[in-house]
Amino acid sequence: MLLEIKDIHVHYGKIAALKGVSVEVDEGEVVTLIGANGAGKTTTLKTISGLRPLTRGQILFDGKDISKVPGHKRVLMGIGQSPEGRGIFPGMTVVENLLMGAYARRDEVEKDLKEVYDLFPRLAERKDQAGGTMSGGEQQMLAIGRALMTKPKVLLLDEPSMGLAPKLIQQIFEIITEINRRGTTVLLVEQNAQQALQVAHRAYVLETGAVVKSAEASALLNDPQVRAAYLGGG
Ligand code: ATP
Repeated sequence: MLLEIKDIHVHYGKIAALKGVSVEVDEGEVVTLIGANGAGKTTTLKTISGLRPLTRGQILFDGKDISKVPGHKRVLMGIGQSPEGRGIFPGMTVVENLLMGAYARRDEVEKDLKEVYDLFPRLAERKDQAGGTMSGGEQQMLAIGRALMTKPKVLLLDEPSMGLAPKLIQQIFEIITEINRRGTTVLLVEQNAQQALQVAHRAYVLETGAVVKSAEASALLNDPQVRAAYLGGG
């Protein structure tokens, strides 16, 4: 197993945001976490990337316990995150933003840059434009591209479709499939459950800080309870 989240508990002050979440991600998979607002999806990703400490439980990556490893070291180990709200450097150009993702290494940077441009031709066209002047959708692509420049073994994506026009949403999901096809494991958090379940192999449903269901994504697409709660009924 590439990533094993075992019974993690996470608190914000006295509030328990995660109350024993367990998730497994195997190499080569796209796994998605779905659930309502406040269910704990973002907190789960932040805890994996080391932005939030856990109060109980364990995170294993490549078989090693990384629960106490600082976030910047987890990036070097192969955990790449494209955060919710994007978090790009607005004053830096597109190419400078992308190179920030590769700051810790010298090898094959040009090759990886070419691959990112190949996935996102728009970023190549706009490589000298300031990141902050890119449109919402373009900034989303830039954030994913920058995370890819860290050469992650697992890419954590937090709401990549948030705030995008329907056509772009479709495109982002196609790109996620392509990133996975090229060899990167993906853990995807989405409000857009329908499309997330269509690109994922397996899925976990979170409710108020706990996993209430996990299954093959295709099974959840046909699960009456999941359909009623997260897929607009029917
Ligand atoms: P959304 O889809 O709305 O982003 P989510 O499933 O990602 O929701 P989280 O953002 O992980 O949910 O939040 C889980 C719980 O933790 C919520 O009750 C939220 O209010 C709480 N929480 C998140 N961040 C903080 C914070 N910085 N301080 C206090 N409580 C927080």
